Amino acid sequence: MRIDSATRDQLQAWEKELSAQYERICQHELNLDITRGKPSAVQLSLSDKLDGLLNGDYRAGDGTDTRNYGGLDGLICAREMGADILQVPTSEVIAGGNSSLTLMYHAVLTGYLFGFAGNTPWREMKEPKFLCPVPGYDRHFAICEQLGIGMVNVPMTATGPDMDAAEQLVKEDQEIIGMWCVPKFSNPTGVTYDEETVERLSRLGNIANPGFRIFWDNAYAIHDLGQQVNLPNIRTATVENGTVDSVLQFASTSKVTHAGSGVAFVSASPANLASLKEQMQAMTIGPDKVNQLRHSRLFPEFSMLKDHMKKHADILQPKFACVLKHLEDAFADSDLGKWETPKGGYFVSLDTRPGCAKAVVKLAADAGVKLTPAGATFPYGKDPEDCNIRIAPSFPPLEELDTAMSVFVLCVKLASVRNALQ
Ligand code: PLP
Repeated sequence: MRIDSATRDQLQAWEKELSAQYERICQHELNLDITRGKPSAVQLSLSDKLDGLLNGDYRAGDGTDTRNYGGLDGLICAREMGADILQVPTSEVIAGGNSSLTLMYHAVLTGYLFGFAGNTPWREMKEPKFLCPVPGYDRHFAICEQLGIGMVNVPMTATGPDMDAAEQLVKEDQEIIGMWCVPKFSNPTGVTYDEETVERLSRLGNIANPGFRIFWDNAYAIHDLGQQVNLPNIRTATVENGTVDSVLQFASTSKVTHAGSGVAFVSASPANLASLKEQMQAMTIGPDKVNQLRHSRLFPEFSMLKDHMKKHADILQPKFACVLKHLEDAFADSDLGKWETPKGGYFVSLDTRPGCAKAVVKLAADAGVKLTPAGATFPYGKDPEDCNIRIAPSFPPLEELDTAMSVFVLCVKLASVRNALQ
């Protein structure tokens, strides 16, 4: 089906045929949901051994009684886990509570209220702004929005953010003081940044405001579906380019063990860590070390963590295959949608023809299939082209996902044809 080369008569005939199919589906009174990227219960159960694992032995390898207060940096064994995931030195890692998003929020707050490493606090600037590769993760944008930090869209490409645009922007505007990045299996496009992109990102610190920080949210660092995808190491690049202070890295075990009670990590240069800790020490006496110890007992070696991720991949892989097959079958030879083929992570996203995403989401909702709201993948919920839709395959069982995807592709076709007829 190609819209651009179709006659009006053909479009009208398609519309009639697709509407009839849609009406039939609506009669099934479906109630399906492919919105948030949560692990399924089967995935969560892979880590149920966490429960009771300590069996009364609360002492960490270094003798720390994990039940007690203290240890702002987290247990050494947990920090080692974070260092393995992010491929950085353990000395540059803090192991925190259950959520990397919380750590990101606090890191942004640190920059905003106090400034990193002696730089001007962002709140003292006229119009502090973050670069936001789009489509991106809505919760990153929500942090900026809540603090009144401006957001500037940078288009995502198949190899990462458009670096010509990013470089130009930080050069022209010294009030750009941050950038969000999900460098591996990006949320939502599934793209992994390539070597050149990582290299150019690591050099931004040389042209931007000295207080500029990249928030490197490596949420899907070890979430490969099959063969391992290599993300170039940004720390190594910043060491080579003299910009170590320009990047803060984040990860967590949220999509490794139990999503609501994992361990989160932040890694940064000594100067940045000192700034973070100055803020943290007023806020907490220390993280949940008992949970950190449980995690390091479950995975005493990094190889065990990687083996565990293969079990997640076995569950997720057929779901991704299902989504991609529906997209391929419906749109491979069409001008109705574009998408990347993620090799890991939690999302696939489809770009419809401009002006169709909201209509697709509404049609799907009316047919009983809940999709992430159109626009959610953009700052302020505003997708200028109204085209991006995020698909989250992980949570529903495969059969439900299959049905939901049949409805979804039908809605994309119908919305596209109706849009073309307007
Ligand atoms: N970062 C990204 C890119 C995510 O997609 C998610 C969850 O969907 C998170 C962070 C949340 O991580 P956490 O559970 O560690 O707060």
